[in-house]
Amino acid sequence: MPELPEVQTIASELNRKLKNRIIKSVVVNAPKMVAVGPGTVSNIRTADKRSTDKFISLLEGEKVLSVQRRAKLLIFDLSGSLCILVHLKMTGQFIFEDKKLRAKTGGKYRMFNKLYAPLVKLPSKHTHVIFNFIDGSTLYFNDIRKFGYMKLVRDDELNQVRELQEYGPEPLSKQFTFSTFLTAVKNVLSNKLKIKIFLMDAKKIAGIGNIYSDEILFHAGVRPMRRVSSLTNKELAAIYKWIKPVLIKGIKAKGSSVGDFVRTDGSWGQMGKFHFVYGRKGQKCKKCGSIIEAVKLGGRTGSFCPHCQK
Ligand SMILES: [Zn+2]
Repeated sequence: MPELPEVQTIASELNRKLKNRIIKSVVVNAPKMVAVGPGTVSNIRTADKRSTDKFISLLEGEKVLSVQRRAKLLIFDLSGSLCILVHLKMTGQFIFEDKKLRAKTGGKYRMFNKLYAPLVKLPSKHTHVIFNFIDGSTLYFNDIRKFGYMKLVRDDELNQVRELQEYGPEPLSKQFTFSTFLTAVKNVLSNKLKIKIFLMDAKKIAGIGNIYSDEILFHAGVRPMRRVSSLTNKELAAIYKWIKPVLIKGIKAKGSSVGDFVRTDGSWGQMGKFHFVYGRKGQKCKKCGSIIEAVKLGGRTGSFCPHCQK
């Protein structure tokens, strides 16, 4: 699942590529993945023809002003006081194709980050929404598992969008101080809550998922299964200290291409090469040579070095 660095990579690329482009037409192949209005919940799973038609007609002629990120949500700001909110969930992808990229790739892309994955011509059966711009360029929204969603809201409805209300602080913002972090720690209700699960809770801190929680905890020297209530001030300070640098490193590497994450030109993020523990069970720790272990935590896997992490 794309996390803060991956979604930021997509947001920055789309912001650059889509700015001032005008939508000519929209094709929706999976109506249950789009919705209009703020009241819809995050897992929109009903198809409503009227709503789909409205989604399409409202978007035609709209100019893209900017594309930004909040937590793992992409926010497309449009000229007509409208926003498209997009959650990529597990396997959502955006490919932006203009004449130049089409000439380079022949319109074919790998949807998995494996060299043996077949090249797929877009639109494919996994392309669910297509934005055609008046200059001939195209934005494809692909999603193999179809958990992703798009919803169209008016600017004055943004404060009614539940996801946006519930997100915790942005870890890369100035507002995310050590005392903000400690407040979130103190508000943990269950003294059984594990630190990895805490870090991955978007209501506590926005945007950290499976990959980056593992990496942050490795650098902080804390095992993922430790209870939040057991952590010393020194350990909490170490975790806080590593959140920003680990996420910034992920953004600089253009994200981690594990699973289905690809950049908006179909290329891969490079962060995977720099993982110390995530996805490295059974391999040697890059710091001490011990074998990386894994532990199941609430349906997720936490990877850690038994020597470097206490
Ligand atoms: Zn180690």
